[in-house]
Amino acid sequence: MADDVDIFDCQQCGYCCHGETTVSLDARDVDRMCTHLGMDFAAVREKYLRVTGKVIQMKIRDGHCIFYDNGCTIHPGKPWRCSQWPIHPSMLADEANFSAISSSCPGIKKELGYKRFREMLQQVVAKQKF
Ligand code: SF4
Ligand code: SF4
Repeated sequence: MADDVDIFDCQQCGYCCHGETTVSLDARDVDRMCTHLGMDFAAVREKYLRVTGKVIQMKIRDGHCIFYDNGCTIHPGKPWRCSQWPIHPSMLADEANFSAISSSCPGIKKELGYKRFREMLQQVVAKQKF
């Protein structure tokens, strides 16, 4: 039974934490983050979040997520989408997703080839709750 280390080895490049936007947070992400930081929502929002209508994201500073500093500084409080990345089940459905994700994440073991990678990903996903 494959494990995530069989298909992914994070290179700590930080690419996934860079850009002009971040993943969006759901209500449980916000609660987890507030609890982890020991701050109420108003204070967390003011300091760390960018709220656009119903979309809540993390602020960007110097081209990366405000929590990025040579790695994630908020691991236990990070959004679920950050925890999921890059083992994304969409790669099961479409090789194009595998190509897109593996080209933006050097930790994906794309040398396995899509067929083998997909077989192993299926086993990994079966063990996880998405
Ligand atoms: S892009 Fe991939 S390899 Fe780089 S830090 Fe993010 S998860 Fe790790
Ligand atoms: S919360 Fe952490 S893992 Fe998610 S984008 Fe920010 S620095 Fe990266």
